[in-house]
Amino acid sequence: MFSANTRILIVDDMASLRDLLKAYLRRLGFKHITEAVDGRDAYQTLIASKAAGNSFELIISDWNMPNMTGLELLKLVRSVPEWKNLPFLILTTENEKEKVMEAVVAGASNYIVKPVEEKVLQDKLLRTWLKISQSS
Ligand SMILES: [Mg+2]
Repeated sequence: MFSANTRILIVDDMASLRDLLKAYLRRLGFKHITEAVDGRDAYQTLIASKAAGNSFELIISDWNMPNMTGLELLKLVRSVPEWKNLPFLILTTENEKEKVMEAVVAGASNYIVKPVEEKVLQDKLLRTWLKISQSS
C-alpha cells in the first residue's frame, strides 16, 4: 500500500467532498494531503511542487469542475514525461460511468464512482499501488 508519507493532491470543486476525502485519507493514515479547487488550480499546484522538488505522488481528482475538468487535467499530467506513471484516480458520478473508458484511455490509474465510500477508496488505492509496484 502507499506509504503514510505519500504526498497526495485531492482535486474537487466541492469543499464538502474535499473534506470527506481528507477525512478518509487521514483515517487511512495519510499525512500529506493538499487540496486544489479545480484542474487549473491543481496543475499550478503540481508545477509549483515540482519546481520546489517535492512532487506529488498521488492525485485523486473529480471529473466535473469549472476552469479545467479532471479529464483535461489528466491529459495535461500525462503529457509531462516524468508524470507518465503518476498515480491518478478520477471520481465520476453514476451517470458518467460510460465516460470511465475515456479516462482509462487517457491514462487514469483507476476510478471511483461517487458517492465515495471509505472502503472503496481504500480498495482502489490498494489496486493502484499493486499495479504500480508490479510494473516497476
Ligand atoms: Mg465537481
